[in-house]
Order: sequence, then structure tokens, then C-alpha cells
Amino acid sequence: MRGTRVLVLNSGSSSVKYQLLDMADHSRPAAGIVERIGERTSYLRHTPAGGTPREREEAVDGHGAALEAVAAELARDGLGLDSPELAAIGHRVVHGGRRFTAPTLVDDEVLAEIERLVPVAPLHNPANLAGIRTALGLAPGLPQVAVFDTAFHTTMPEYAARYAIDPAVADAHRVRRYGFHGTSHAYVSRRTAELLGREPSEVNVIVLHLGNGASASAVAGGRCVDTSMGLTPLEGLVMGTRSGDIDPAVVFHLARVAGMSVDEIDTLLNKRSGLLGLCGDNDMREVLRRMDSGAGDAGGAGDAESAASAKLAFDVYVHRLRKYIGAYFAVLGRVDAVAFTAGVGENAAPVRRAAVAGLEGLGPVVDPELNEARGGGPRLISPASARVAVAVVPTDEELEIATQTYALVTGATARPG
Ligand code: ADP
Repeated sequence: MRGTRVLVLNSGSSSVKYQLLDMADHSRPAAGIVERIGERTSYLRHTPAGGTPREREEAVDGHGAALEAVAAELARDGLGLDSPELAAIGHRVVHGGRRFTAPTLVDDEVLAEIERLVPVAPLHNPANLAGIRTALGLAPGLPQVAVFDTAFHTTMPEYAARYAIDPAVADAHRVRRYGFHGTSHAYVSRRTAELLGREPSEVNVIVLHLGNGASASAVAGGRCVDTSMGLTPLEGLVMGTRSGDIDPAVVFHLARVAGMSVDEIDTLLNKRSGLLGLCGDNDMREVLRRMDSGAGDAGGAGDAESAASAKLAFDVYVHRLRKYIGAYFAVLGRVDAVAFTAGVGENAAPVRRAAVAGLEGLGPVVDPELNEARGGGPRLISPASARVAVAVVPTDEELEIATQTYALVTGATARPG
């Protein structure tokens, strides 16, 4: 009999985040992060449940060394990778292409396919692969499961996944709409159904995952039928540093008229746009603070200018959000709930209020008091009379990865042979 714990690893380009979850009681015996991997001084923080975090700075020159440090920290608390309680490692993998529609037990062939997808996810899949390979080396006997950000969106109908371009070109280069944040959209849409006291198969939900990256999805009866991110996470909503939707001709124009290279335009749209590009701050807290500080008459001209650019950034952000909500009402036909999640969605009441304002005709309404009230768990922020519920549902991608991983390995071990 295997243990009940799952180690969730999220290997990003310069960081590894981890959480150890116990599926017997959903407790989290440990969590931590290794940041600035490959820089001169990396930062490590390990937090045992109920204990004091252990922090240090040292050089960690790659994902291999980072995971070795994580394994050593876990071992110090008696939670090492060889502990009998550990059932599996669940890895977040950003891009699973069309092939991976569900969590998948890692083997050589699966690794090769994740590698083949590197051209469509050049920033993410190499780091995810490095994490999996190191973990396989450190714990060769342990089942390792890849949980893909794209998997939940593979149910999108072909007409939602296709770009209207020559299919021969598109297919030769795997150009289509994949969508991301799928683990979060899956978790939040299910929790929203629970909050409404109904089965996921009975409800249609619009999920708005608003973190630093942001995406919307239309979920019909538990299946994703459309989402705002596309070939890459650049498409769709306005984000912390990404432009979201833009006329593709802007790229040609900047290349031809401004003489910018493809890489420069890539950096502009992915790293220097969105809220940051519009007003100089990518953190919604700061955008809201600047808008507020401009509301009084204490500040000078500089403050007024700063407040005005923050207000414009906010308005552009919210306008795009409202357009997607409206579009997904059209896609779904009937909507039971609009659910806000992730850093901005869970915490920024003004964004929620503004995004839903004026949509009463479609059904969703935000109750001002419920919207402002702070609370940890999933909650409704619409009045009982609203035809369409509006909810705040905190996301928990680690729990979802652990749940999917555990279901797969316990299902696998239950099989005969
Ligand atoms: P990531 O996409 O990196 O996982 P999160 O989902 O944690 O990010 O969201 C991070 C963002 O959430 C921050 O950049 C900030 O803009 C926003 N945020 C966090 N807390 C608040 C808050 N109290 N009010 C407004 N925005 C917030």
C-alpha cells in the first residue's frame, strides 16, 4: 500500500515552487521555493507545517541543484523523497499540445513528446522537463505524473481552437489555440458548481483567472468550450505585463516602420505591455493606490498625471475583461455563474465591480457589500435575486495537481498486475 502524500513541483524558468500535500486530510506538511536559479545568489525558503521557515541565499546553478536542495530540506524534516508516505510527484507542465488531454504518468516517450513541444513553449517546457528529469534521477522508483496547463482546454471545439489561417501552415507548425491556466480553470469551475450546490455537469460558468497572467474561460457542464489564451499565453485579456489581444498587423508595422526585431517586439508585447506598459506598474494594488491618491485634491500635478495613467490602465484592463464576459455569454448561451479567481480576481473588489457593471441585462450583478467583504473561502458576491451568480473562488493549482496525480497513481496501483 502506497502512502497518501504527493509532492507538487512547479519548475519555472528561474524558480522551483513546491508543496507537499497529504491527500488523506488535505494537510500540507511542507512548502517552499527556490528563486533566482542560475543567478549569483539564489534564494531558498522552506516552510514546514506549523514550523518556522528556513531561508538562505546561496548559488544554485540549475534545476538539478535546486531540486537536490528541495529534497535535502524535505529530508531534514523526515519528509524525504524516499519516505514511504510519498505516493507520487506531480509536475506542472505548461504545454501538453493536443496529445495530452489528461494527467499522464511520465515515461521516456512522454518526456520526448514534452520536448517536441518546446518550440511552442520555449520559456516553459524546458524548465518543466529539467524538473522532471532531475526528480526521476532523485527518486527513480516513484511514480511521476505530468499535469498539463493546456489539458482542460483540449475539449474546445475545433472552431474555437482553430485560427482562421491556412490549415496546412497551421498544422505544420502546430499553430492553434491551446489555452493555459487549465488546472486553475478546472478547479475553479468545479468549486463554483459546489458553491451553487450543483453538479459541475449541470452548470455553465465563466471563469476569470486574473493573476499576473490572466485568462478567461467558458465552461459548459464541466467542459471548456472556449478560452482567451491561444498558441501562447499572450492572447486575450490585458495582463500585468502582456498586451493580450492586439491587431497582428501591429507586429508587421513595428518591424517595418519602427525597425524593431521580432525578439524586441516579443519582449515589448510579453514583458513591457499590459498594466506595466500603460502606466508603469504591473501590480494591480499599485494601480488602485495611484487611482485613489489622485481622487483627493492633496497631490500636485505629478500625482494627477500618475493617477490619470493608472486610471487609463485600469479602464483598458476592465474594458477587455467586460468584452470577454459578454463574448462568453454568447458562447455559452446560458450562464449560471461568473467566477473571479487568482491574485487580482480574489482581492481586487474594484476590478470585480467594474467588470460586471452594466451587465445587469445579461444577469450578473455584484452586491457592493458582499464584494468588499474579505473572506478566505469561495463565496458569492451577487445578491440572491441575481439571475446569474457572481462568485469569488480562490484557486488552488497545487491541490488540483495533487488531486489529479493521486487519482492517477492510486487508480494505476489498484489495477491488477
Ligand atoms: P501569478 O500569476 O504570478 O500566479 P497571482 O495569482 O498570485 O499571480 O496574482 C498576482 C497579482 O495579484 C499581483 O501582481 C497583484 O497585481 C494582484 N494582487 C494581489 N493581491 C492584491 C490585492 N490585495 N489587491 C489587488 N491586486 C492584488
